Amino acid sequence: MAGRNHLYIPGPTNVPYSVMSAMQVPMEDHRRPDFPELVRPLLQDLKKVFRTEQGQCFVLPATGTAGWEIAMTNTLSPGDKVLSFRFGQFSHLWIDMAKRLGFNVQYDEIPWGEGISPDRVETLLRADAKHEIKALLICHNETATGVTNNLAEIRKAIDAAGHPALLLVDGVSSIGSLDFRLDEWGIDVGLAGSQKGFMLPAGLVMLAFSPKALKARESAKCPRCFLDVMDHINANKDGFFPYTPSIPLLYGLRKVLDLLLEEGMDNVYARHFRLAEGVRRAAQAWGLDICCRDPKLVSNTVTAIMVPQGFDARDVMHYAYHRYNLSLGAGLSEVLGKLFRIGHLGDLNELSLACPLMGAEMAMLDCGIPVTPGSGIAAAGAYWRETAQPLAKRG
Ligand SMILES: *Cc1c(COP(=O)(O)O)cnc(C)c1O
Repeated sequence: MAGRNHLYIPGPTNVPYSVMSAMQVPMEDHRRPDFPELVRPLLQDLKKVFRTEQGQCFVLPATGTAGWEIAMTNTLSPGDKVLSFRFGQFSHLWIDMAKRLGFNVQYDEIPWGEGISPDRVETLLRADAKHEIKALLICHNETATGVTNNLAEIRKAIDAAGHPALLLVDGVSSIGSLDFRLDEWGIDVGLAGSQKGFMLPAGLVMLAFSPKALKARESAKCPRCFLDVMDHINANKDGFFPYTPSIPLLYGLRKVLDLLLEEGMDNVYARHFRLAEGVRRAAQAWGLDICCRDPKLVSNTVTAIMVPQGFDARDVMHYAYHRYNLSLGAGLSEVLGKLFRIGHLGDLNELSLACPLMGAEMAMLDCGIPVTPGSGIAAAGAYWRETAQPLAKRG
């Protein structure tokens, strides 16, 4: 098929050309004496994305899923009680892993499309007078439903309950795109994957541990080897890794950190908000609901758009892919066929998002979904024009 595939799933995301070329490197000796000149600034700059000064960052050759395991096994002991909330496929999978690793998981079932109530967190923690709960497992941005939890409020709820549990946060589809502050929000472990907001291929998991999490590691009895951060603490100290790192991904990460920090994290967050708002305006103009029910919790990295009753979102994806070479995100598990998702995180501007809006609209029309042709693009375009930076007159 002529023309390229248009990739608008919430990960892997589009890799900027500058990052692709930064990864075109010959292999090199990862024990060469000047290797630390690459590694040390990488780990330092990563802290600026996690927004931590007190914490310590780690990079492992793995994916977000391993991040869950790293966060739990490095801070907890077998059988420890953990508290979590299931409100989408990713929070579901984390809970599933916690059970399979032998933790005692207490969790609330929340309807998919809703987020975590900080009041409920406070109530559950207050009820745990003996402080049996050792950690909260919180999925910051539920990529399956496009719901972003309010971590600042969740932190306040933990403090209001006076509970000492660790706060472990999955930021796979938020860190590097959405406001995330490890120190300020008292997050003990934050974890991210390379293929979402970090605009890289999959293959790296990045984490930040708070001093409290590092302290917890000392008495955490879970067996761990490949994923033990202690080996990283020891090797990173001298600017090395305990085993062979992926050299191209490290050079890619270097470039990504340069791009993010040059734009400025606050500007990155603002750009994601503005682009996402255009997508939401488009959905509204189509007359379609989004999966997220609380307007305060809408995600700025992914929008899950509900198809009307009587239609199957898989048909929309089918037309989008086979007719227009457009990849949209699927509805997962409980929301299979009920929604499709547009990923809007990473290397994007207004016109890159015009593409999936146009393609999704054409595919919906092909399936007989009664949307007004051009309405989505018109609404998004109007919003993006209204909120565009003022531009000096041509000289
Ligand atoms: C993608 C994703 C994961 C899983 O990450 P992998 O890199 O596929 O292992 C976990 N949590 C969230 C919120 C995600 O979006």
